[in-house]
Amino acid sequence: MSKGTVKEQNTFDAIVIGSGISGGWAAKELCEKGLKTLVLERGRMVKHVEDYPTATTNPWEFKHRRKLPFEITKANPVVSRCYAFDESTYHFFVKDNEHPYIQEKPFDWIRGYQVGGKSLLWARQTQRWSDYEFNGPARDGFAVDWPIRYKDLAPWYSHVEKFAGISGNQDGIDNLPDGDFLPPFELNCVERHCQQKIKEHFTDRQLIIGRCAHLTKPNDIHLQQKRGQCQARNLCERGCPFGAYFSSNSSTLPWAERTGNFTIRPYSVAHSILYDEQHDRASGVRVIDAISKEEHTFYAKIIFVNAACLNTNLLLLNSESNRFPNGFGNDNGLLGKYIAFHLYRGTSKSTFEGYADQYYSGRRPTSGFMPAFRNVFKQQTDFLRGYMLTLSARRAGWERGFGAEGIGAGMKEKLTGPGQWIVNMDMQGETIPKKENHVRLSKDHKDEWGIPQLITSIGYDDNDEKMVTDTMAQQAEILEKVGCKNVVQTDNHQAPGLDIHEMGGVRMGKDPATSLLNQWNQFHACKNVFVTDGACMTSTGNQNPSLTFMAITARAANYAVSELKKRNL
Ligand SMILES: Cc1cc2nc3c(=O)[nH]c(=O)nc-3n(C[C@H](O)[C@H](O)[C@H](O)COP(=O)(O)OP(=O)(O)OC[C@H]3O[C@@H](n4cnc5c(N)ncnc54)[C@H](O)[C@@H]3O)c2cc1C
Repeated sequence: MSKGTVKEQNTFDAIVIGSGISGGWAAKELCEKGLKTLVLERGRMVKHVEDYPTATTNPWEFKHRRKLPFEITKANPVVSRCYAFDESTYHFFVKDNEHPYIQEKPFDWIRGYQVGGKSLLWARQTQRWSDYEFNGPARDGFAVDWPIRYKDLAPWYSHVEKFAGISGNQDGIDNLPDGDFLPPFELNCVERHCQQKIKEHFTDRQLIIGRCAHLTKPNDIHLQQKRGQCQARNLCERGCPFGAYFSSNSSTLPWAERTGNFTIRPYSVAHSILYDEQHDRASGVRVIDAISKEEHTFYAKIIFVNAACLNTNLLLLNSESNRFPNGFGNDNGLLGKYIAFHLYRGTSKSTFEGYADQYYSGRRPTSGFMPAFRNVFKQQTDFLRGYMLTLSARRAGWERGFGAEGIGAGMKEKLTGPGQWIVNMDMQGETIPKKENHVRLSKDHKDEWGIPQLITSIGYDDNDEKMVTDTMAQQAEILEKVGCKNVVQTDNHQAPGLDIHEMGGVRMGKDPATSLLNQWNQFHACKNVFVTDGACMTSTGNQNPSLTFMAITARAANYAVSELKKRNL
């Protein structure tokens, strides 16, 4: 085969790097609009349903009843700290020793390297941002101003919500815009009690049902995707055979495939983006085959980088050329800097007396949710920004049988009745992007594919500490006002990263001197490369981020296609 033919075969209209939540959306939009699109994915193929080996496995069918043997948790301390990592999901998580990185400060980097990425594993909580978040940096004087506002993203939120299927209630809350929702899940009786008490005692906070990417009542567009209604099994992280929660594998990737414009190449580790100095544009992507370690080059008119925040930073830092000696598009030296995350440290547990004759049905895949109420309309505290809270009530389950007196029939009887009502609260706080919170490439250590290892240097600051102190006081007050008892509060001191909401490093902004990407997620310095995963985020908001990644991606992909048609790219 002649060289020319190989180049032709390896040439596409668009390349998408990564097949997770954001890459799946890029692929869907680009393919639907007629672009021959290659998705490069470093991990193995995971086919919807057929590659979910534990989706219907009963707890007693697991060799270790879903627990992982000590040798595994000892060998994998980072990923073992993730609540979702167990015997049923083991195969979807990156193991520490297979993909090492260097923690200058403790950072728990949780990853899923396979077709679908972390979309198989995510907890599916989805809220829109409001202008309180987009205005945040400008109002409070940190980071840089976002180049977009809520109105720019609102139609794209609708676009992705309708296709992905987001359940929720129309709550009419200023800093939590309503969306195009499927029917909501329900608060249970104790949560409804808490909702009422919160309304009586506070004017600035409301308890609502969480919004999540589950098909509570599939519409035609979901049936066309061959997805079905959520069975409230809450075994989602194993992959859902009903396709009832949104994942790339069940939704965007098969949709892209149906267009006939889609090619996916698993086991393809993107090494770097190639820059063509003659034409002042990116020409393609250098790839290392994950198995054979052979090098290949793929070419395209546009490139979407969707490898997930830190891998996107890594890939771009590794994309050196004469034009960009310090990493792709990095004229201002800010690539890899201003990484931020979500603050999850402050939690409360309590008990609730009453409603002893009531229960709930199913395993609801969401919880009660309280939108941010600190520093929203004005600055109220000595720290910047705020946090949302979750509040969920449940009846203690079989675990209370431990320590119960007796064995045999007596113990069994105790185990078959519902236990005490327990009310838990958790926070999700905004953190302030700072230059010193950064990632960079190791000069000494490479991975198995000859790519420099990533050094993470990301930590908490005073603002975070003050926010944790504040949330503890607020959570205690809320629990007291709703009538909970035996409140136990914990600052879990978890390392950044375990929130799995890392963002930044390739931030959007108006000014090329202080940001890497423009309002369309194009590099200021190279317009045919787009970054639309968490790396593009200028600030973190307090909401779960993935819905915003989806909306930003769909918006940028449609813009890219229209610019291509106008021959501007
Ligand atoms: C347990 C858990 C719970 C979560 N809960 C929520 C939640 O409730 N709500 C929410 O909004 N978010 C949640 N998240 C976070 C959410 O999963 C991520 O925000 C989302 O998946 C990010 O999408 P992405 O496309 O950027 O990355 P991913 O979905 O991680 O996809 C990135 C893909 O890129 C591939 N890749 C990486 N490097 C390369 C390379 N060099 N070459 C080729 N391919 C590469 C990876 O293998 C992967 O497939 C959760 C995550 C986890 C793990």
